[in-house]
Amino acid sequence: MMRSTLLLILSMSFHSLMASDGKDKELEIRILISKNSQATFNTYGNVIVSDYSGRKFRLIPNATYIAKADSENFLYLSKEKLSSPVDFFIPDGKNFLKVNGRKYKGKLRAISHRDGSLIIIEELPFEKYLLGVLSCEMGPNWPIEALKAQAVASRTYAARLLNKGREYDVENDTSHQVYTGLEKINTNIIEAVNSTKGEVLYYNGRMITAFFHACCGGRTTTPSAAFQGNIIKPLRGVIDPYCKTSNHYEWDITLTESDILRMIQSRGSTALKLKGIRIYSKDKSGRAIKLEFKTDRSNFRMKANDVRKYFGNFEFKSTFITRIKKTNKGYIFYGKGWGHGVGMCQEGAKNMARKGYSYKRILSFYYPGARITDMEKFFAQ
Ligand SMILES: [Zn+2]
Repeated sequence: MMRSTLLLILSMSFHSLMASDGKDKELEIRILISKNSQATFNTYGNVIVSDYSGRKFRLIPNATYIAKADSENFLYLSKEKLSSPVDFFIPDGKNFLKVNGRKYKGKLRAISHRDGSLIIIEELPFEKYLLGVLSCEMGPNWPIEALKAQAVASRTYAARLLNKGREYDVENDTSHQVYTGLEKINTNIIEAVNSTKGEVLYYNGRMITAFFHACCGGRTTTPSAAFQGNIIKPLRGVIDPYCKTSNHYEWDITLTESDILRMIQSRGSTALKLKGIRIYSKDKSGRAIKLEFKTDRSNFRMKANDVRKYFGNFEFKSTFITRIKKTNKGYIFYGKGWGHGVGMCQEGAKNMARKGYSYKRILSFYYPGARITDMEKFFAQ
């Protein structure tokens, strides 16, 4: 029986273990990859751990470790109590770590919080992160010019979020950009990132917040309609003829009266009966801003975005509601597009690429007035 699941490193120089450490200084990004009370780590090859007190360990290869928050200052890695934060180093080569079943090769950090949560952050070179984003946000089989447009949009979007004052820069889900580690990466994705290396979109001397979404349903909209924010020319919205053939162009969802009543009651309505629903206000693109629910009590208004969030962004695909029909089963909502509708429409970008447009034409179509430059310009010391 082994006494410990961690092998303490006593005499080896730590840096000699890190073959790739300290070469050229590339811009890095920190991604939140897990936030929970615990996380599961599976080691593949060589992984080295160093805790806040300076102790260093080598993890057993092909083993499973459960990390758990203990208090603000300590966490457990299986049975070993370590001081937080704890860093995981994965030397180059075939070594990697799986965290909650997903494969990572960057430098990982586990931090325990006072509220009992354990957060795991991956830090890796910015351009490598984009490989993972592209494989999630578009996929390896998308046309190359669409992938290049996505690379520039994703690079710009993430660059705007770099924030040294926070524990991490970006989240790994649709609240920022989807990133699930470095899997499903092929030569198309590598080419799309490498051939646009460093390229970002800017307007009026600043990088833009290069929003994108799955499908606009024929018209993109402004960030102020979907969220808060100033309306700059590149994000004013365009009429998009390119996504009409997409499977996401139109959608519908049937909601029962009790589904809807439960939602408005959870927001403070005292209604017991629903008499009708209408779109109360719309933005310029035609997307609903507020919905009004007619009830046996007073009428109740709710932001269309909140209604969408309540029923789920995968089911209630957009706020671009074109019709609400009452049936004996409840209400059918008909709508167009998938996502918030701001910035680049990915389905439209795919079709533009298929028609032979370059990534620069795609970007200037969806972000009119924005220009391309090297991001170094914004990060030079
Ligand atoms: Zn579109």
